[in-house]
Amino acid sequence: MPDLATPSLVKGLMARHHLHCRKSLGQNFLVDGNIVNKIVGSAGLAGDDTVVEIGPGLGVLTMAAAEAAEKVIAVEIDRNLVPVLGETLSGNGNVEIVNRDALEVDFDRLVYGDRNVSGGQKPYVILANLPYYITTPLIMHILNGGFNYRLMVIMIQQEVARRLGAPPGGKDYGSLTVAVGYHARVEYLFRVPRTVFIPRPEVDSAIVRLSKRDKPAVDVPDEDLFFRVVRGSFGQRRKTILNALGSTFKSLNREELTDILNAAGINPVRRGETLSLDEFAEVTKQFYNYFSPG
Ligand code: SAM
Repeated sequence: MPDLATPSLVKGLMARHHLHCRKSLGQNFLVDGNIVNKIVGSAGLAGDDTVVEIGPGLGVLTMAAAEAAEKVIAVEIDRNLVPVLGETLSGNGNVEIVNRDALEVDFDRLVYGDRNVSGGQKPYVILANLPYYITTPLIMHILNGGFNYRLMVIMIQQEVARRLGAPPGGKDYGSLTVAVGYHARVEYLFRVPRTVFIPRPEVDSAIVRLSKRDKPAVDVPDEDLFFRVVRGSFGQRRKTILNALGSTFKSLNREELTDILNAAGINPVRRGETLSLDEFAEVTKQFYNYFSPG
């Protein structure tokens, strides 16, 4: 099979299979071989690696990953693409196509079957040119799932990529930044112009590498409480953290909330978006102590 990452091959393949790009599934196919190589190169794959690809489309990244890794398991929701993938990847015997919704997949079960993960199975690599319409839910599904991946190399909208690694205080910093930073180290790698896709999307993209942390970035007594504090703090960005948290923790009055923030060393008139991960963790500890004294 010749290099798939060219506009004429993609168009020819689609026409021969009577397919149209489905906008509702975020189908924008990559047609630039250099970008394909840069994405796969950014994963630093070894010959004994297993790769899980989300949304293989016509198989352009799949093929490049299959040449570098031991095995690629590619999860594609669109069943119309399965026969196309069978054709484009016919020379790659180490690829398994799974016709499922990635949002519903237990990735550990997919990779290891019933083998016990705590038995020290090698962590896998997740690779994706993510469909725009579910970028955030997919990232959160992977991060919250506690799966045994070690690295994620993903192409996402540039605007979301900026949010993932944003420092506190700016407009890009939000609850997604905190959630991702809690679970993983984030590296913004490079921008990808919209011109290298068929059809051309309305925005530029970027490649981001997320390396799973051995343990979360901060120590919190209760993860659900931590994320409640974070979401509440960002819920009303123009309010002070005191007022924003007042809308989330309705059972507490202003004095109680002020005491909690002061105990955490946070000035109650600050805005939530200025707090670092460590500061959110400290606020969480004070809420926790307040709710469960002793
Ligand atoms: N990897 C290909 C490429 O780079 O050219 C295609 C990328 S395209 C942006 C996104 C792909 O994800 C499409 O093939 C689409 O059908 C698939 N997709 C969309 N939603 C999905 C889901 N929930 N689970 C699995 N695949 C999905």
